[in-house]
Amino acid sequence: MATILDGKKTAEEIKGEIEEQVKQIKAQGGKVPHLAAILVGNDGASETYVNNKVRACEKVGFESSLLRFDENISEEELLTVVEEVNANDDIDGLIVQLPLPQHISVEKVTDRIRPEKDVDGFHPENVGRMAKNLPAYIAATPYGILQLLKRYQIETKGKHCVVVGRSHIVGSPMSILMAGSGYPGDATVTLCHRYTENLEEFTKRADILIVAVGIPGFVTADMVKEGVIIIDVGITRVEDASKKSGYRLKGDVDYEQVYPKSSFITPVPGGVGPMTIASLLWNTLLAAQDAVYSGIEVE
Ligand code: NAP
Repeated sequence: MATILDGKKTAEEIKGEIEEQVKQIKAQGGKVPHLAAILVGNDGASETYVNNKVRACEKVGFESSLLRFDENISEEELLTVVEEVNANDDIDGLIVQLPLPQHISVEKVTDRIRPEKDVDGFHPENVGRMAKNLPAYIAATPYGILQLLKRYQIETKGKHCVVVGRSHIVGSPMSILMAGSGYPGDATVTLCHRYTENLEEFTKRADILIVAVGIPGFVTADMVKEGVIIIDVGITRVEDASKKSGYRLKGDVDYEQVYPKSSFITPVPGGVGPMTIASLLWNTLLAAQDAVYSGIEVE
């Protein structure tokens, strides 16, 4: 029977550890970590995500600032805000909730964040450092997956890890991290995407299958081998008349079908999702200690 990789429980443990560290910092009169989040416009989903992050900060004892702007803010004005946050010593970490309105370049904005405050790990300097196996802020979802593998003591060395999806926030960094040296890593990695021919030939050979495509139920039982370890990143709302909301969240893996064949599997919801927020908090804690750029070893 498969072991369920309980992201909700693991994230609570991590948040408990962070809370404990914040208490100690406060007791010693140290600086409380402070995360700032920029939100542009009134997109409902973005608002929910950003509010969850702010609430999570409050729960662990961090300070947080939500910087809200009208969707008509110009790119130049937004870049000025980023510069102001960069210069504000009280703020340790800055995130920009995506998507941004069309007239604003995501690249320009994320590239303007000081790498030392880039707790989302999207700045090219952090991406480059990650690729070179140097200490870096690692994007929250891949970092959360690493933590999950670690806390369930899943062996990765020498395993064949197949990643499906090559986005900059999930698939691509995940493939680099799993191929990197050390634990979790040292895996042999195959990165698949839209143009991969005969996808199932690769997924069937996976010891560890990480799926981030955004198509609910995409991976079916006939695409995996017995004993596979499944990390399902996908979160899509699908209609469900039995729910009060009228929808439920579904992953990229057909859970019911694939569960009996797997040795470990993340549920959706309650798998990778909660780990993402816990990892953002962890990165913010590191930023407050300047741990990454001062060379202190990052867990
Ligand atoms: P994305 O930017 O849309 O990327 C999707 C990737 O899937 C692309 O690389 C695309 O390939 C690939 N793809 C699409 N159709 C495919 C197919 N038929 N066969 C193989 N590959 C295919 O998505 P994302 O941001 O990585 O997110 C993926 C999913 O994870 C979404 O459901 C999202 O909501 C979820 N997510 C969850 C969390 C979390 O915290 N749990 C965090 C982030 C994202 P091409 O590059 O060739 O187009």
